[in-house]
Amino acid sequence: MEIIEKFCKDRGIEYLKDEPMKNHTSFKIGGACDMYIVINTVNDLKLLLALAKNENIPYMIIGNGSNLLVHDKGLEGLVIRLKGDFTDIKKSDDVRIIAGSGAKLADVCIFARNNELSGLEFAYGIPGSAGGGVYMNAGAYDGEMKNVVESVVYLNSAGNICQYKGDELDFSYRNSVFKRTDDIILFVTYRLIPGRYEDISSKMNDFMDRRRTKQPLEYPSAGSVFKRPEGNYAGALIQQCGLKGMSIGGAEVSEKHSGFIINTGNATCDDVLSLVDYVQKTVKEKTGYYLEREIIDIGK
Ligand code: FAD
Repeated sequence: MEIIEKFCKDRGIEYLKDEPMKNHTSFKIGGACDMYIVINTVNDLKLLLALAKNENIPYMIIGNGSNLLVHDKGLEGLVIRLKGDFTDIKKSDDVRIIAGSGAKLADVCIFARNNELSGLEFAYGIPGSAGGGVYMNAGAYDGEMKNVVESVVYLNSAGNICQYKGDELDFSYRNSVFKRTDDIILFVTYRLIPGRYEDISSKMNDFMDRRRTKQPLEYPSAGSVFKRPEGNYAGALIQQCGLKGMSIGGAEVSEKHSGFIINTGNATCDDVLSLVDYVQKTVKEKTGYYLEREIIDIGK
């Protein structure tokens, strides 16, 4: 780890040692990683990964940490957050926007609206990054990333910069090609359609109002815990089983939206996982539906 620290110091790269992951996840849960590193350029990213591989140090890329449940004992190795050049958002032609993977989805949506480009309204209010949005094929209301992401520039495990286009992205419900590779998403190209500022704005505000009314945004969470089962809704099934408000430790099935588990203050990862397990078992027993987890748990 000293060699990574020296690399960061020499290149003026921001890093934190033994950094609690609860500071970087929307759940506000998670023990420490060995090093949390903020990378601003493609070149620094390539050099850091080459060094980490050479030293056999594990690493992961984190976006906004809004779909992650990090274990209480933390994470071995490096957690890398992409900022700087990776937060740039620009127009590449009349209908295309290119965003760095570290850019907030909300900022990409605002940029699209300001340029009178429609198609990303659904993503306003999803508290992730452009990279996390692609990784998860994030979606809401009438849209998903699949409909608007045309191509993605990524760094493969051999350290080469490559591109996936169209079907190669292999988007499906909360799934993309990146879930089964070690590729790192660098830049995302969205293809949108011309629209009127007022129309785009009112759709974005409508979606945001619906979120504020229906979701427990006042508590830390990672959004919907479970994927939507075929032909039903996770929240409806959980409610039907009388699990609304059920809690284990500091983790609670939200009273406002049963598809969310909230951290009421001092929830641990174990609390959340125990509650997830209890919900899955109860729903399966009472309704026959298996609720597959959407949130990703990582760590020791
Ligand atoms: P993270 O949680 O940081 O990471 C998720 C995964 O993506 C990790 O495996 C990580 O390694 C990987 N990843 C991130 N960036 C990169 C990269 N550059 N290269 C390679 N891998 C990368 N989701 C929806 O789909 N629809 C919703 O409506 C929605 N509403 C939500 C509401 C709330 C209140 C919250 C807290 C969450 C909600 N989510 C929703 C979940 C979450 O916001 C999305 O899944 C989002 O896409 C995750 O993005 P992120 O940047 O936070 O990713």
